[in-house]
Amino acid sequence: MRYFMLLAAAFLSAACQHSQPENSVVDAVAKQQECTAADTVYMNADSTICSLKIDGYKVSWIRDNASRKNNELKLFGEVPAGLIDSLGIANGIPSSMSAVLLQCDTANVLFDAGLGMPGCLLLSSLDSLGVKAETLDRVYLTHLHPDHIGGLMANGQKVFPNAKVYVAKAEYDAWMNMPEDKNQMQVAFAKLYADNMVLFEFNDTLPVGVVALDAKGHTPGHTVFEAGKFLIVGDLFHGLALQMAHPEFCAFYDMDPENAVKSREKFISYAKEKGSVMLGMHFPEPGFVK
Ligand SMILES: [Zn+2]
Repeated sequence: MRYFMLLAAAFLSAACQHSQPENSVVDAVAKQQECTAADTVYMNADSTICSLKIDGYKVSWIRDNASRKNNELKLFGEVPAGLIDSLGIANGIPSSMSAVLLQCDTANVLFDAGLGMPGCLLLSSLDSLGVKAETLDRVYLTHLHPDHIGGLMANGQKVFPNAKVYVAKAEYDAWMNMPEDKNQMQVAFAKLYADNMVLFEFNDTLPVGVVALDAKGHTPGHTVFEAGKFLIVGDLFHGLALQMAHPEFCAFYDMDPENAVKSREKFISYAKEKGSVMLGMHFPEPGFVK
């Protein structure tokens, strides 16, 4: 039943770009994000999928983890008590493990693939958005951490057997040259998808007009993807509520904190300047900020 409702809502959003579906959650989200009449927004009942349609791209944020998740404050080092109070994050910072799907007339592109553990929601969510694993065209990867590539593999087999997988050359090279005890999953992924792997440079324009931008710091080749008004920012943020206001705080996972801060600051300004909609792989629902 829910799938039917999702499909109906997807159809509705595709068919009438200038009216909002009659759904109070959608209205609330639209209001919260100050969406214009030209945008369409849809969120499913569990708040695990949120779709937006702007300028011919339909982009869906898909939460991969089944339950809501807070990141612990200790992940971000010493956060002053006054700041914790003023931001209301004493119980942790709302987060998620997520992926993003872009759909346009000619292709479906998945950005990152989640953790791939039992109970993860990615494949059922893709299904509800009309995308089967076997027919997915392309996967664009922001970086090669396990919570982004785990979902590409299951029991040593490809989950997306016909997809081309795109990775920044800087990211690929860095992981392939790491010590053996640090890159086992990345090497297994590289072997499995060797025949379907495309390595790109920063500033390359990839199929369907997506531009790959340099966001190094979190990892050596961490990439932000720009598709029209959308900016898919990968792991620029692990604690949105803290780091949007204070980009100087790094999560423990940032491999090169100095460049991670620079990249975060750079893309916050860039998004403001261009009026972009940011989607992040560790954003809480609705998965985007405008
Ligand atoms: Zn991550």
